[in-house]
Amino acid sequence: AAKAAGKNTCRQFTEDMNVDALDKLKLKALLGTAIENDEFRLVFQPQINIETKAIVGAEALIRWRHPEQGEISPARFIPLAEESGLIVPIGRWVIEEACRQGKQWFDAGLGPFVVAVNVSAQQFNNGDILGLVEEILYGTGFPAHYLELEFTESGLLNDICHSISTIEQLKSLGVKLAIDDFGTGYSSLSYLKQFKVEKLKIDQSFVRDIGVNAESLEIIRAIIQLGKTLRLEVIAEGVETENQLQTLRALDCNEAQGYLISKPLPAADWMAFYQSWMARHGMPSGSVAPSPQ
Ligand code: C2E
Ligand code: MG
Ligand code: MG
Ligand code: MG
Repeated sequence: AAKAAGKNTCRQFTEDMNVDALDKLKLKALLGTAIENDEFRLVFQPQINIETKAIVGAEALIRWRHPEQGEISPARFIPLAEESGLIVPIGRWVIEEACRQGKQWFDAGLGPFVVAVNVSAQQFNNGDILGLVEEILYGTGFPAHYLELEFTESGLLNDICHSISTIEQLKSLGVKLAIDDFGTGYSSLSYLKQFKVEKLKIDQSFVRDIGVNAESLEIIRAIIQLGKTLRLEVIAEGVETENQLQTLRALDCNEAQGYLISKPLPAADWMAFYQSWMARHGMPSGSVAPSPQ
């Protein structure tokens, strides 16, 4: 019986792999026409200053809805987009749409606040990110110092000389830089000093563990301390409970983002959320500027 079950499990595994491979090919093909068919949109998740509660940022997150396949999560299609090179046009679409939307909000008298955009490793290493960002800022009229690009450590460590010089050039445009999912990669402290980024985003896996795992709490404490030493802002992502927020506050974490504050919002809902949140916390919704450093 054990032998039969083993055989069964094995066959099932193979079938799943085939389905997976087919799925990947099919998804890649569908991904190739998603821009022209207008299947992408951005949602925006608020980032707050923990002390003042002001909304200081909006992280743009891509969503893909295919007419037949339905909603496909970025965790699934971004890796495929990277493999196939489609991340370059998709990444361009994201930055352009985020800046266009940000400009529209600022023109409507909202904010200002930072608009944060995720940039994947492929896009950073092979996509002429500098030329692209320059062109988009110019084309949309969105102010550079309110655009923040989020990179992952693995993306930056691919070609360190290239990363250092690209970061320097992006910074000379006035753009802000953050390291996403911090603590999960190969963070080397000496590189961190050379990558002159503005912000560290504590990965949500550590935040989720607050109150559960003492080591995660110590890692968070260490990241916040590191941020202070290197004079970087620190934001915690994936904050879901009041207890997590209060713990982060006690540790002197600067900013927070997560379902506790809000899920990512469709662009059309951002203005109402922003205005009511700011009013609820006793702040005007048109003049609290996160002072650009
Ligand atoms: P990320 O940049 O680390 O984004 C955080 C993810 O956590 C988002 O998932 C967000 O919706 C989710 N999240 C936010 N708050 C909470 C919370 O309180 N609890 C939990 N459990 N989750 C929370 P999403 O939107 O599915 O994106 C997943 C990943 O896909 C992103 O991770 C990012 O790496 C990538 N991604 C998303 N949009 C883009 C994009 O436009 N370009 C690129 N290159 N990558 C993107
Ligand atoms: Mg991110
Ligand atoms: Mg993250
Ligand atoms: Mg991530």
